[in-house]
Order: sequence, then structure tokens, then C-alpha cells
Amino acid sequence: MIQDFFRSDLSDFKAYEVSKTDYKVRLDANENFSNLPSEVRAKIAWAIEDSIFNRYPDGAASEVCARYAEYANVKSTNVMAGNGSDECIQIIANTFLNTGDKVLVQSPDFSMYGLYTKVAGGIPIEFPLGNELKLDINGFISMANEKKVKIVFLSNPNNPTGGIIQREDIIKIINGCSCIVVIDEAYFEFYGKTIVDKIESYENLIVLRTCSKVGLAAIRLGFLITNNVLMAELKKVKPPFNVNAISQCIACVILKQPEIIYKNVECILNQRKYLWQKLKDINGIQLYRTGGNFMLIQVENAQKMKERLLQAGINVRSFTAATLKNYLRITVGSREENDYLLKNISCKNGGII
Ligand code: PMP
Repeated sequence: MIQDFFRSDLSDFKAYEVSKTDYKVRLDANENFSNLPSEVRAKIAWAIEDSIFNRYPDGAASEVCARYAEYANVKSTNVMAGNGSDECIQIIANTFLNTGDKVLVQSPDFSMYGLYTKVAGGIPIEFPLGNELKLDINGFISMANEKKVKIVFLSNPNNPTGGIIQREDIIKIINGCSCIVVIDEAYFEFYGKTIVDKIESYENLIVLRTCSKVGLAAIRLGFLITNNVLMAELKKVKPPFNVNAISQCIACVILKQPEIIYKNVECILNQRKYLWQKLKDINGIQLYRTGGNFMLIQVENAQKMKERLLQAGINVRSFTAATLKNYLRITVGSREENDYLLKNISCKNGGII
């Protein structure tokens, strides 16, 4: 049987299902609600016209890394580009994990840490968040060391909670954990604080970033930022031409003019404030503080609310994990989208279920 050749340790894996994209209002994927301005798209079109289509792309994505380094205020030799930060996570897992090695993640956190750990033959261990979805820093460090994990992954801000780990606690984790510490700053732009300035101060720190949340999800571009020693090891595993020439070209146009990003982030932050204030006043919704472009809410019956919103053409993120049963994650939309959500989130009788 052909199945005899399949990996037995992947037998319980399910294909990642990406939700349909034809909803009227898409608040499920933490994307940016607006497309790039038309004059920027025109610039991109001109730049693409000059692309060299018959040659492989620059394998090191040198110009993009140099421009991102400037944006992130680090040296370009400390930056590696990936086909989305998803790929950076996979490169990290494949670089450092031997079969059976353990990885510590928070629960909940971004699901790809666990998935790529397993694909690399590793074992993810989950550390549940405590009251108010807060991380017990000392407990987390103790668990990492007791279990002798090779890597810890933490998103900061956390997806899906929106929660923040303060800088001094991040430093405590980097110092306290005897392993590689990956701080995933996918939502950095909406929080504004970073630990990237410390990559050369610690031998075990890797920071992840992405362009997906600032309006470029379509081009699949993420970054891994770390010291030279870890970088040399990671380069052994990076696929040679992982970022295509068109994505490199587009990112260069945008990174040459970071004001495009800053302006866009400001719009999202204004809408986040608006949505937050409106949701906060609705009875029956528990709202969590967020550093991201999304917010987590807890309601009495998330399934019912999800279905009701779907009927109105609004898709928000629900969860299969038992711990997140009555939670929904809502991406901040445009003013119109947010108003439409708010109109549909309450029942006619004023209840929220
Ligand atoms: N990290 C976190 C915490 C995320 O939420 C996401 C996307 N949802 C990613 C990484 C992956 O981003 P990318 O689009 O760059 O692969």
C-alpha cells in the first residue's frame, strides 16, 4: 500500500483549513482592512515591469533584508527573509530540533509553533496561561528548564489573546531559559515595543517579524532577526530561493517609503480604539486588552454568536480548543466594517447571544 510509505507520526495530522474568502466582512485572519493606496500599487506595477523573470531571485533577498534592517534598526547581516514568518518558524524548528526534542509554547498561542515542531520530529509542550490569560513568567521558565526544551516560542503581542509580555519579563525569559528563545513580533506595529535591540546581547534570542499585518499579506514575506552565530546555523536550512523576486520587488517599494506603513498602522489603531470603546459597553462581552490588530472576546455562547455573524456575512475567528470554547477573535476592520459588526453583535432584544 502506498500508505506504508507515509510518515506514521503524521497520521493524526489534518490539513490546515483556510476559511473561505467570500464573506462580506472578513474579520477572521488578522489581516489589514485596506488595500494599498492606488498610487502605491501603480508604483509597484512599474517596479515589477523591470523584474528579471528568467533568472532565479536573489537567494539572500539582500536588498529587502537591507531595507528591513533599516526599518527595524538592526544590521542587515542579522536579518533573514522568509516566505512569510511561517516559513521562518519552520526554518527554526528544522535547524535546531532533533527527533524527540521538546519545545515549549504558551497555550493559547499561534498554532504553527506546535505544528512545525511536530513536522520537524519534535514534541511541543503547552504551558497554559493563567488568570486573565496572563503568563506566569517564573512558572514558564521553570517548565522550560525542567523539561529541557530546545526552543521556546512566544508571540508578543500574543495571538489570539492580544496580551503583552513586558520587556523586563521577556529579558527574564531570555536569561532564565537554557534554550533558544523565539519572540514572535508579528503584531509589533500595533504594540510599538520590541526586543529586537537585544539580539546581539544574548546568544539565544531570535525575533520574528512579518509584513502580513501591515498590508502585504498577499506577498508572503516575513523576517527572522538574530545574532551571527544562530544566523549561520539557520542559513544551512533555509531553502535557497525561498522569497520570490516579485515579493522582493514589492517589499522594496514599500520599505523605501515606510510612511505608507506608519500611516496605515495609525488608521488601524484609530479603528481599534473605536471598536474597543463600543464593545466595552456591550453587556455580556468580556473584552481583553490587546496589543494587536484584533481583540479577543469571551461570550456566553461563542458558537451561536459566530453563526449569527456568519448569517450577516461577517466571519470572525472561533476556536476548537476547549480552553477557548466561548471566545472569539475579531480583527479590527474599517469604520464601516466595525459598525456593521457592532450592529450585528447584539440580538434584537439587546442580549448578545
Ligand atoms: N506569527 C503570529 C503570531 C501570527 O499571528 C501569524 C499570522 N497569523 C504569523 C506568525 C504568520 O505570519 P506570516 O503571514 O508572516 O506567515
